[in-house]
Amino acid sequence: MVDSPVMEPRIDPDDELTCLGHDEDLDNQQGAMAPPIVQTSLFAFPSTDALMRGLDAEDDQPVYSRGTNPTVRAVETKLARLERGEACTCFASGMAAISATMFGLLKAGDHLLFVNQVYGPSRELARALTRFGVAHNVALDITPDAVEAHLRPNTKMVWIESPGTMVFRQLDVRAVADLARAHGAVSVVDNSWATPLFQKPLTLGVDVVVHSASKYLGGHSDVLSGAVISDGDRIRRLFYDATLLLGGMLSPFDAWLLNRGLRTLPARLRVHHANGLTVARWLADQPRVRRVFHPLLDTEGTSRPRSLGAQLRGATGLFSFELDTDGHTDVARVLDALTRFRLGVSWGGVESLALTPNRDDRQASALDDDHIPRGTIRLSIGLEPPEILIDDLRQALAVS
Ligand SMILES: *Cc1c(COP(=O)(O)O)cnc(C)c1O
Repeated sequence: MVDSPVMEPRIDPDDELTCLGHDEDLDNQQGAMAPPIVQTSLFAFPSTDALMRGLDAEDDQPVYSRGTNPTVRAVETKLARLERGEACTCFASGMAAISATMFGLLKAGDHLLFVNQVYGPSRELARALTRFGVAHNVALDITPDAVEAHLRPNTKMVWIESPGTMVFRQLDVRAVADLARAHGAVSVVDNSWATPLFQKPLTLGVDVVVHSASKYLGGHSDVLSGAVISDGDRIRRLFYDATLLLGGMLSPFDAWLLNRGLRTLPARLRVHHANGLTVARWLADQPRVRRVFHPLLDTEGTSRPRSLGAQLRGATGLFSFELDTDGHTDVARVLDALTRFRLGVSWGGVESLALTPNRDDRQASALDDDHIPRGTIRLSIGLEPPEILIDDLRQALAVS
Protein backbone atom coordinates (compact mmCIF):
# COMPACT_ATOMS: atom_id res chain seq x y z
CA MET A 1 0.00 0.00 0.00
CA VAL A 2 1.30 3.44 -0.90
CA ASP A 3 1.62 5.53 2.20
CA SER A 4 3.30 8.74 1.04
CA PRO A 5 0.68 11.50 0.84
CA VAL A 6 -0.72 12.49 -2.54
CA MET A 7 -0.17 16.03 -3.78
CA GLU A 8 -2.89 18.61 -3.24
CA PRO A 9 -4.85 20.03 -6.17
CA ARG A 10 -4.75 23.81 -6.65
CA ILE A 11 -8.27 25.22 -6.86
CA ASP A 12 -8.65 28.97 -7.42
CA PRO A 13 -10.62 30.47 -4.47
CA ASP A 14 -12.61 32.63 -6.92
CA ASP A 15 -13.73 29.50 -8.72
CA GLU A 16 -14.76 28.00 -5.43
CA LEU A 17 -17.04 30.98 -4.71
CA THR A 18 -18.43 30.94 -8.26
CA CYS A 19 -19.34 27.26 -7.91
CA LEU A 20 -20.95 27.81 -4.52
CA GLY A 21 -23.17 30.52 -6.01
CA HIS A 22 -21.70 33.68 -4.48
CA ASP A 23 -22.04 35.49 -7.84
CA GLU A 24 -25.68 34.56 -8.35
CA ASP A 25 -28.13 37.42 -8.76
CA LEU A 26 -30.35 36.80 -5.73
CA ASP A 27 -32.11 40.18 -6.01
CA ASN A 28 -33.44 39.10 -9.35
CA GLN A 29 -35.04 35.97 -7.88
CA GLN A 30 -36.72 37.21 -4.66
CA GLY A 31 -33.70 36.12 -2.66
CA ALA A 32 -34.20 32.46 -3.53
CA MET A 33 -30.97 30.60 -2.66
CA ALA A 34 -31.61 28.11 -5.44
CA PRO A 35 -32.38 29.67 -8.82
CA PRO A 36 -36.03 29.30 -9.85
CA ILE A 37 -36.76 26.80 -12.60
CA VAL A 38 -38.34 28.94 -15.30
CA GLN A 39 -40.27 26.10 -16.89
CA THR A 40 -41.82 27.81 -19.87
CA SER A 41 -41.49 27.47 -23.61
CA LEU A 42 -42.23 31.12 -24.47
CA PHE A 43 -42.16 34.57 -22.92
CA ALA A 44 -45.00 37.09 -23.48
CA PHE A 45 -44.29 40.77 -24.23
CA PRO A 46 -46.29 43.88 -23.30
CA SER A 47 -46.33 45.27 -26.85
CA THR A 48 -45.58 44.33 -30.45
CA ASP A 49 -42.67 46.72 -30.36
CA ALA A 50 -41.14 45.00 -27.31
CA LEU A 51 -41.65 41.59 -28.96
CA MET A 52 -39.90 42.79 -32.14
CA ARG A 53 -36.99 44.12 -30.08
CA GLY A 54 -36.81 40.78 -28.27
CA LEU A 55 -36.70 38.92 -31.58
CA ASP A 56 -33.82 41.12 -32.69
CA ALA A 57 -31.75 40.11 -29.66
CA GLU A 58 -32.72 36.51 -28.99
CA ASP A 59 -29.20 35.64 -27.91
CA ASP A 60 -29.66 37.96 -24.94
CA GLN A 61 -33.40 38.09 -24.28
CA PRO A 62 -35.82 35.35 -23.30
CA VAL A 63 -38.26 35.03 -26.22
CA TYR A 64 -38.56 31.29 -26.72
CA SER A 65 -36.74 28.66 -24.62
CA ARG A 66 -35.06 27.09 -27.66
CA GLY A 67 -33.00 30.27 -27.51
CA THR A 68 -32.55 32.02 -24.17
CA ASN A 69 -34.05 30.92 -20.83
CA PRO A 70 -33.13 32.47 -17.44
CA THR A 71 -32.43 29.17 -15.65
CA VAL A 72 -30.15 28.10 -18.47
CA ARG A 73 -28.56 31.54 -18.64
CA ALA A 74 -27.65 31.36 -14.91
CA VAL A 75 -25.57 28.24 -15.47
CA GLU A 76 -24.07 29.62 -18.72
CA THR A 77 -22.86 32.69 -16.86
CA LYS A 78 -21.25 30.49 -14.24
CA LEU A 79 -19.47 28.23 -16.76
CA ALA A 80 -18.19 31.21 -18.79
CA ARG A 81 -16.71 32.70 -15.61
CA LEU A 82 -15.07 29.42 -14.55
CA GLU A 83 -13.46 28.98 -18.00
CA ARG A 84 -12.41 32.67 -18.18
CA GLY A 85 -14.47 33.05 -21.35
CA GLU A 86 -16.78 35.90 -22.32
CA ALA A 87 -19.81 33.76 -23.05
CA CYS A 88 -21.24 30.26 -22.95
CA THR A 89 -24.08 28.47 -24.63
CA CYS A 90 -25.43 25.27 -23.09
CA PHE A 91 -26.86 22.22 -24.80
CA ALA A 92 -28.90 19.11 -24.03
CA SER A 93 -25.77 16.91 -24.12
CA GLY A 94 -22.05 17.08 -24.74
CA MET A 95 -22.62 15.73 -28.26
CA ALA A 96 -25.15 18.50 -28.95
CA ALA A 97 -22.44 21.01 -27.94
CA ILE A 98 -19.86 19.23 -30.11
CA SER A 99 -22.15 18.94 -33.14
CA ALA A 100 -23.17 22.61 -32.85
CA THR A 101 -19.48 23.58 -32.76
CA MET A 102 -18.61 21.54 -35.83
CA PHE A 103 -21.73 22.47 -37.83
CA GLY A 104 -21.55 26.07 -36.71
CA LEU A 105 -17.86 26.72 -37.44
CA LEU A 106 -16.99 24.44 -40.42
CA LYS A 107 -18.04 24.50 -44.05
CA ALA A 108 -17.63 22.33 -47.15
CA GLY A 109 -14.01 22.20 -48.26
CA ASP A 110 -12.61 22.55 -44.73
CA HIS A 111 -10.32 20.08 -43.00
CA LEU A 112 -10.61 19.19 -39.28
CA LEU A 113 -7.58 17.84 -37.43
CA PHE A 114 -8.07 15.77 -34.26
CA VAL A 115 -5.06 15.77 -31.94
CA ASN A 116 -4.63 12.87 -29.48
CA GLN A 117 -6.99 9.99 -28.75
CA VAL A 118 -10.38 11.70 -28.95
CA TYR A 119 -13.84 10.72 -27.67
CA GLY A 120 -15.20 8.16 -30.17
CA PRO A 121 -18.51 9.85 -31.07
CA SER A 122 -16.70 13.15 -31.85
CA ARG A 123 -14.75 11.26 -34.51
CA GLU A 124 -17.89 9.47 -35.72
CA LEU A 125 -19.53 12.84 -36.18
CA ALA A 126 -16.55 13.98 -38.27
CA ARG A 127 -17.00 10.84 -40.38
CA ALA A 128 -20.63 11.86 -40.93
CA LEU A 129 -19.45 15.37 -41.91
CA THR A 130 -17.55 13.93 -44.90
CA ARG A 131 -21.02 13.76 -46.53
CA PHE A 132 -21.04 17.56 -46.30
CA GLY A 133 -17.56 17.95 -47.75
CA VAL A 134 -15.59 18.31 -44.50
CA ALA A 135 -12.45 16.14 -44.34
CA HIS A 136 -10.61 15.10 -41.18
CA ASN A 137 -7.73 13.07 -39.84
CA VAL A 138 -6.15 12.24 -36.50
CA ALA A 139 -2.69 13.11 -35.14
CA LEU A 140 -1.75 10.44 -32.60
CA ASP A 141 1.84 11.65 -32.37
CA ILE A 142 1.11 14.65 -30.18
CA THR A 143 4.43 16.47 -30.21
CA PRO A 144 3.94 19.95 -31.71
CA ASP A 145 6.22 19.16 -34.69
CA ALA A 146 4.20 16.08 -35.58
CA VAL A 147 0.95 18.00 -35.21
CA GLU A 148 2.25 20.74 -37.48
CA ALA A 149 3.05 18.17 -40.16
CA HIS A 150 -0.66 17.20 -40.24
CA LEU A 151 -1.88 20.74 -40.95
CA ARG A 152 -3.21 21.19 -44.49
CA PRO A 153 -3.81 24.47 -46.33
CA ASN A 154 -7.56 24.03 -45.66
CA THR A 155 -7.28 22.99 -41.99
CA LYS A 156 -9.84 25.24 -40.28
CA MET A 157 -10.27 23.49 -36.94
CA VAL A 158 -7.83 21.76 -34.60
CA TRP A 159 -9.69 19.60 -32.07
CA ILE A 160 -7.72 18.71 -28.95
CA GLU A 161 -8.30 16.41 -26.01
CA SER A 162 -5.77 16.71 -23.22
CA PRO A 163 -5.61 14.43 -21.32
CA GLY A 164 -6.87 12.28 -24.20
CA THR A 165 -9.52 9.63 -24.12
CA MET A 166 -8.83 6.10 -22.73
CA VAL A 167 -5.05 6.43 -22.20
CA PHE A 168 -4.99 10.02 -20.88
CA ARG A 169 -1.89 11.40 -22.57
CA GLN A 170 -1.29 15.09 -21.99
CA LEU A 171 -0.07 17.37 -24.73
CA ASP A 172 1.27 20.90 -24.76
CA VAL A 173 -2.05 22.70 -25.24
CA ARG A 174 -0.48 26.14 -25.59
CA ALA A 175 1.95 25.00 -28.29
CA VAL A 176 -0.79 23.31 -30.34
CA ALA A 177 -3.14 26.30 -29.92
CA ASP A 178 -0.33 28.58 -31.17
CA LEU A 179 0.19 26.35 -34.22
CA ALA A 180 -3.53 26.46 -35.00
CA ARG A 181 -3.67 30.24 -34.68
CA ALA A 182 -0.61 30.77 -36.88
CA HIS A 183 -2.32 28.58 -39.47
CA GLY A 184 -5.64 30.46 -39.31
CA ALA A 185 -7.49 27.52 -37.75
CA VAL A 186 -9.83 27.60 -34.74
CA SER A 187 -8.54 25.56 -31.80
CA VAL A 188 -11.06 23.63 -29.70
CA VAL A 189 -10.40 21.74 -26.46
CA ASP A 190 -12.81 19.14 -25.10
CA ASN A 191 -12.22 19.92 -21.42
CA SER A 192 -14.67 17.40 -19.94
CA TRP A 193 -11.97 15.41 -18.13
CA ALA A 194 -10.26 18.28 -16.31
CA THR A 195 -13.23 20.62 -15.81
CA PRO A 196 -12.46 24.37 -15.63
CA LEU A 197 -11.24 23.91 -12.05
CA PHE A 198 -8.25 21.86 -13.16
CA GLN A 199 -7.51 23.23 -16.65
CA LYS A 200 -8.41 26.52 -18.35
CA PRO A 201 -7.67 26.13 -22.07
CA LEU A 202 -8.76 29.69 -22.98
CA THR A 203 -5.96 31.05 -20.79
CA LEU A 204 -3.55 28.85 -22.78
CA GLY A 205 -4.49 30.51 -26.08
CA VAL A 206 -7.28 28.12 -27.12
CA ASP A 207 -10.28 29.64 -28.96
CA VAL A 208 -13.16 27.38 -27.92
CA VAL A 209 -13.83 25.01 -25.01
CA VAL A 210 -16.50 22.31 -25.20
CA HIS A 211 -17.80 20.19 -22.34
CA SER A 212 -19.82 17.15 -21.70
CA ALA A 213 -21.37 18.53 -18.51
CA SER A 214 -22.95 15.10 -18.03
CA LYS A 215 -19.71 14.02 -16.33
CA TYR A 216 -18.03 15.89 -13.45
CA LEU A 217 -19.87 19.20 -13.87
CA GLY A 218 -23.27 17.61 -13.23
CA GLY A 219 -21.48 15.07 -11.09
CA HIS A 220 -24.32 12.79 -9.98
CA SER A 221 -25.11 10.68 -13.06
CA ASP A 222 -28.55 12.23 -13.24
CA VAL A 223 -28.34 14.81 -16.03
CA LEU A 224 -27.16 15.03 -19.64
CA SER A 225 -25.82 18.43 -20.66
CA GLY A 226 -23.13 20.15 -22.68
CA ALA A 227 -21.56 23.58 -23.04
CA VAL A 228 -19.46 25.67 -25.42
CA ILE A 229 -17.43 28.61 -24.07
CA SER A 230 -15.59 31.20 -26.13
CA ASP A 231 -15.49 34.93 -26.86
CA GLY A 232 -18.78 36.80 -27.20
CA ASP A 233 -18.72 37.12 -31.00
CA ARG A 234 -18.10 33.46 -31.65
CA ILE A 235 -20.75 32.36 -29.14
CA ARG A 236 -23.24 34.76 -30.75
CA ARG A 237 -22.46 33.25 -34.14
CA LEU A 238 -22.86 29.74 -32.75
CA PHE A 239 -26.10 30.74 -31.08
CA TYR A 240 -27.70 31.95 -34.31
CA ASP A 241 -26.13 29.43 -36.69
CA ALA A 242 -26.28 26.33 -34.54
CA THR A 243 -28.03 26.47 -31.13
CA LEU A 244 -31.21 28.03 -32.41
CA LEU A 245 -31.33 26.03 -35.65
CA LEU A 246 -30.16 22.61 -34.50
CA GLY A 247 -32.43 22.92 -31.47
CA GLY A 248 -30.36 20.92 -28.98
CA MET A 249 -30.88 23.37 -26.13
CA LEU A 250 -30.60 22.50 -22.45
CA SER A 251 -33.97 22.27 -20.67
CA PRO A 252 -34.59 24.54 -17.66
CA PHE A 253 -34.84 21.63 -15.25
CA ASP A 254 -31.61 20.05 -16.49
CA ALA A 255 -29.91 23.46 -16.23
CA TRP A 256 -31.07 23.60 -12.64
CA LEU A 257 -29.64 20.14 -11.92
CA LEU A 258 -26.37 21.15 -13.56
CA ASN A 259 -26.21 24.30 -11.46
CA ARG A 260 -26.82 22.25 -8.33
CA GLY A 261 -24.04 19.87 -9.34
CA LEU A 262 -21.64 22.79 -9.83
CA ARG A 263 -22.14 23.90 -6.23
CA THR A 264 -20.25 20.86 -4.94
CA LEU A 265 -17.75 20.58 -7.80
CA PRO A 266 -14.69 21.82 -5.83
CA ALA A 267 -15.47 19.55 -2.86
CA ARG A 268 -16.06 16.54 -5.11
CA LEU A 269 -12.96 17.15 -7.21
CA ARG A 270 -10.69 17.22 -4.15
CA VAL A 271 -11.90 13.73 -3.26
CA HIS A 272 -11.74 12.44 -6.86
CA HIS A 273 -8.18 13.79 -7.14
CA ALA A 274 -6.93 12.19 -3.92
CA ASN A 275 -8.79 8.88 -4.25
CA GLY A 276 -7.95 8.52 -7.94
CA LEU A 277 -4.24 9.00 -7.27
CA THR A 278 -4.31 6.62 -4.31
CA VAL A 279 -5.92 3.84 -6.36
CA ALA A 280 -3.72 4.53 -9.42
CA ARG A 281 -0.52 4.35 -7.37
CA TRP A 282 -1.61 1.09 -5.75
CA LEU A 283 -2.39 -0.41 -9.16
CA ALA A 284 1.01 0.61 -10.54
CA ASP A 285 2.66 -1.76 -8.04
CA GLN A 286 0.55 -4.82 -8.89
CA PRO A 287 2.20 -7.67 -10.82
CA ARG A 288 -0.85 -8.20 -13.10
CA VAL A 289 -0.77 -4.55 -14.19
CA ARG A 290 1.50 -3.66 -17.13
CA ARG A 291 1.00 0.09 -16.99
CA VAL A 292 -1.20 2.69 -15.36
CA PHE A 293 -2.37 5.56 -17.55
CA HIS A 294 -2.86 8.49 -15.20
CA PRO A 295 -1.74 12.00 -16.19
CA LEU A 296 -0.06 12.58 -12.84
CA LEU A 297 1.90 9.34 -12.67
CA ASP A 298 5.18 9.18 -14.51
CA THR A 299 4.99 7.95 -18.10
CA GLU A 300 6.75 4.68 -17.28
CA GLY A 301 3.61 3.85 -15.32
CA THR A 302 5.29 3.46 -11.95
CA SER A 303 3.67 4.70 -8.77
CA ARG A 304 5.87 7.82 -8.69
CA PRO A 305 3.73 10.94 -9.02
CA ARG A 306 4.77 13.75 -11.34
CA SER A 307 4.56 17.39 -10.39
CA LEU A 308 1.38 19.14 -11.40
CA GLY A 309 3.07 21.48 -13.88
CA ALA A 310 1.53 24.64 -15.30
CA GLN A 311 -1.26 23.12 -17.35
CA LEU A 312 -3.16 20.96 -14.86
CA ARG A 313 -4.16 22.09 -11.38
CA GLY A 314 -5.27 18.64 -10.31
CA ALA A 315 -6.47 15.28 -11.58
CA THR A 316 -10.00 13.98 -11.66
CA GLY A 317 -10.81 10.34 -10.91
CA LEU A 318 -10.83 8.95 -14.45
CA PHE A 319 -7.82 6.91 -15.57
CA SER A 320 -7.02 3.47 -16.90
CA PHE A 321 -4.57 0.62 -16.63
CA GLU A 322 -3.37 -2.20 -18.84
CA LEU A 323 -3.82 -5.76 -17.61
CA ASP A 324 -1.24 -8.45 -18.38
CA THR A 325 -3.52 -9.87 -21.05
CA ASP A 326 -4.90 -8.86 -24.45
CA GLY A 327 -7.89 -11.17 -24.66
CA HIS A 328 -11.40 -9.80 -24.25
CA THR A 329 -12.50 -12.81 -22.17
CA ASP A 330 -9.64 -12.41 -19.68
CA VAL A 331 -10.32 -8.70 -19.29
CA ALA A 332 -14.03 -9.38 -18.86
CA ARG A 333 -13.28 -11.97 -16.15
CA VAL A 334 -11.54 -9.33 -14.03
CA LEU A 335 -14.32 -6.80 -14.63
CA ASP A 336 -17.01 -9.32 -13.77
CA ALA A 337 -15.25 -10.14 -10.48
CA LEU A 338 -15.60 -6.53 -9.27
CA THR A 339 -18.30 -6.04 -6.69
CA ARG A 340 -17.96 -2.38 -5.62
CA PHE A 341 -17.28 -0.93 -9.06
CA ARG A 342 -20.35 -0.85 -11.27
CA LEU A 343 -19.88 -1.71 -14.94
CA GLY A 344 -21.06 1.04 -17.21
CA VAL A 345 -20.28 3.84 -19.64
CA SER A 346 -19.91 7.50 -18.71
CA TRP A 347 -18.03 8.73 -15.63
CA GLY A 348 -17.72 11.63 -13.22
CA GLY A 349 -20.47 10.63 -10.79
CA VAL A 350 -20.18 9.79 -7.10
CA GLU A 351 -20.08 6.03 -7.81
CA SER A 352 -17.04 4.14 -9.07
CA LEU A 353 -17.32 2.61 -12.54
CA ALA A 354 -15.23 0.25 -14.66
CA LEU A 355 -15.21 -0.48 -18.38
CA THR A 356 -12.99 -1.91 -21.10
CA PRO A 357 -12.80 -0.47 -24.63
CA ASN A 358 -12.03 -4.03 -25.82
CA ARG A 359 -15.51 -5.08 -26.96
CA ASP A 360 -14.43 -8.37 -28.51
CA ASP A 361 -11.32 -9.84 -30.10
CA ARG A 362 -12.60 -9.30 -33.68
CA GLN A 363 -12.90 -5.53 -33.20
CA ALA A 364 -9.68 -5.16 -31.23
CA SER A 365 -7.57 -4.16 -34.25
CA ALA A 366 -9.39 -0.79 -34.18
CA LEU A 367 -7.85 -0.31 -30.72
CA ASP A 368 -4.41 -1.13 -32.14
CA ASP A 369 -4.95 1.58 -34.79
CA ASP A 370 -5.72 4.08 -32.04
CA HIS A 371 -2.72 2.98 -29.92
CA ILE A 372 -4.99 1.80 -27.10
CA PRO A 373 -3.82 -1.49 -25.51
CA ARG A 374 -6.28 -4.38 -25.75
CA GLY A 375 -5.96 -5.06 -22.01
CA THR A 376 -7.14 -1.57 -21.03
CA ILE A 377 -9.55 -1.19 -18.12
CA ARG A 378 -10.85 2.32 -17.49
CA LEU A 379 -11.85 3.29 -13.96
CA SER A 380 -13.90 6.25 -12.82
CA ILE A 381 -13.07 6.59 -9.15
CA GLY A 382 -16.08 7.88 -7.21
CA LEU A 383 -16.33 9.16 -3.66
CA GLU A 384 -16.09 5.81 -1.83
CA PRO A 385 -13.21 5.33 0.63
CA PRO A 386 -10.26 4.29 -1.57
CA GLU A 387 -9.37 1.30 0.66
CA ILE A 388 -12.72 -0.28 -0.23
CA LEU A 389 -11.99 0.16 -3.93
CA ILE A 390 -8.48 -1.22 -3.56
CA ASP A 391 -9.80 -4.30 -1.73
CA ASP A 392 -12.25 -4.85 -4.56
CA LEU A 393 -9.52 -4.52 -7.21
CA ARG A 394 -7.23 -6.84 -5.23
CA GLN A 395 -9.74 -9.66 -5.18
CA ALA A 396 -10.70 -9.11 -8.83
CA LEU A 397 -7.05 -9.19 -9.97
CA ALA A 398 -6.60 -12.47 -8.07
CA VAL A 399 -9.25 -14.09 -10.29
CA SER A 400 -7.65 -15.85 -13.23
C1 LIG B 1 -19.19 11.85 -22.64
C2 LIG B 1 -18.28 12.67 -23.44
C3 LIG B 1 -18.75 13.50 -24.46
C4 LIG B 1 -20.20 13.49 -24.89
O1 LIG B 1 -21.02 14.00 -23.92
P1 LIG B 1 -22.55 13.57 -23.73
O2 LIG B 1 -23.02 14.47 -22.66
O3 LIG B 1 -22.56 12.12 -23.36
O4 LIG B 1 -23.24 13.80 -25.04
C5 LIG B 1 -17.85 14.31 -25.10
N1 LIG B 1 -16.54 14.31 -24.80
C6 LIG B 1 -16.05 13.51 -23.84
C7 LIG B 1 -14.60 13.55 -23.54
C8 LIG B 1 -16.89 12.67 -23.14
O5 LIG B 1 -16.40 11.85 -22.22
